[in-house]
Amino acid sequence: MMTGQEYKDSLRKRNIKVYIKGKLLKSNEVIDHPFIRGHVNAAALTYDLANDPMYEDLMTVTSHLTGKKINRFTHIHQSVDDLVKKVKMLRMISQKTGTCYQRCVGFDAMNATYSVTYEMDKKLGTNYHERFKEFLLHVQDTDIMVAGAMTDPKGDRSLRPSQQADPDLFVHVVSKDDKGIIIRGAKAHMTGMVNSHEMLIMPTMGMKKEDKDYAVCCAVPVDAPGIIHIFGRQTNDDRKCEGDIDQGNAKYGIVGGECLTVLEDVFVPWNSVFMCGETEFSGALVERFACYHRQNYGGCKGGVSDVVIGASAVMADYSGYSKAGHIKEKINEMIHMAETLYACSIACSAEGKPTASGAYFVDPLLANVSKHNVTKLIYDIDRLAQDIAGGIVATMPSESDLNDPEIGKYIRKYLKGVSSVPAEDRMKIARLIENMTGGTALVESMHGAGSPQAQKVMYSKLSNLEHKKLCALNIAGIGTEEKEDKKVD
Ligand code: SF4
Ligand code: FE
Repeated sequence: MMTGQEYKDSLRKRNIKVYIKGKLLKSNEVIDHPFIRGHVNAAALTYDLANDPMYEDLMTVTSHLTGKKINRFTHIHQSVDDLVKKVKMLRMISQKTGTCYQRCVGFDAMNATYSVTYEMDKKLGTNYHERFKEFLLHVQDTDIMVAGAMTDPKGDRSLRPSQQADPDLFVHVVSKDDKGIIIRGAKAHMTGMVNSHEMLIMPTMGMKKEDKDYAVCCAVPVDAPGIIHIFGRQTNDDRKCEGDIDQGNAKYGIVGGECLTVLEDVFVPWNSVFMCGETEFSGALVERFACYHRQNYGGCKGGVSDVVIGASAVMADYSGYSKAGHIKEKINEMIHMAETLYACSIACSAEGKPTASGAYFVDPLLANVSKHNVTKLIYDIDRLAQDIAGGIVATMPSESDLNDPEIGKYIRKYLKGVSSVPAEDRMKIARLIENMTGGTALVESMHGAGSPQAQKVMYSKLSNLEHKKLCALNIAGIGTEEKEDKKVD
């Protein structure tokens, strides 16, 4: 297992092309850029915690392939216990970072690909699963970070991939020969991509026969020829080029450092291709990945909410209103919502079942509910945090004013709350609340792991409405014959 420092050192060896605000970065300096280094620190923590005996049980596990001790982020779930520990691990890490550490996306992509390639081989006689296991062995042995790459730009949403005016709006195979395939297109909103080693590309939706070229799953180094990453902007990102206080969370940043990854005729050798044209399995891969990632959100955002709740309570202490009844009530309301998020992630894990490959899969309906809760409750938690923290979150002068020899004294005097707490500490907590409840973080809660409508679509598919009707008809005594309920789970 790598340490955080070894992880950072290994990233410097890549020959990666990253653009930020129109400038190409030097590849060995990518991880030092102010816009990127916080995300690298957060991901590095997933390496350091795995080497800390205190977190051994959550962060490490025995590989079912080699019997070796590995970082859990490279593991294929072998039991319900593995699924539950994943959620507990995410909550624990989020409590330390207050933001995304990005490594779950590749983790989930690998788990989805593992079981789907097994099923595909059984039905179609392909040999994708063995190939994928080789890739997985490499990931487990070297402890590299894999970015999960699912979301395509999608162009006109009313058209299928092969109907688009521009065929590149979904990643597709442009040619193949005996050595491998050439792919073209782009992947959008790529969490942790610029500080990963490899990306695992998956289709963005279930494909029909006419979209055969778009049913592609493969692994590619993030610095392979033909790949360009264009880093996204975030709320207040230029503050990262200034002092620490104004950032709110200078060490770990906000969310996952997303980018647009362009794949301009990228060669992928056959041993790294895990689906190529098998449209009937593309939907299963998408759904499995989506459910694994939606499982996470009560863990990851539960932990993030713990930090927001703590920050709100500290702000109340620093401002002298922590004993007010309405503040206590709001804090309790926030706790209720955070635990509701967590409970749902634990539930979908506890109800997990083995797939044909032996890998465990979450309860898909409950996993979708888990993520859907996040699209609503995080907004409510953050609303209450801003309510408790007060207008200072939006109007506070800068760190430069605090440090100014002429006017700094006024900031220290007038931004003070209770006399025992320096104004600087109150500013730090207010900035943390601003960071965690602001634009970029909220949008990620809405759309990360799929937009709310993507979860709603799954409800009608996964929940048994006919059974619910039958329950009502029987209790209401409607109908003459006995409606024996054969559909009870
Ligand atoms: Fe992991 Fe996604 Fe949460 Fe980031 S947002 S910590 S990748 S579950
Ligand atoms: Fe996310």
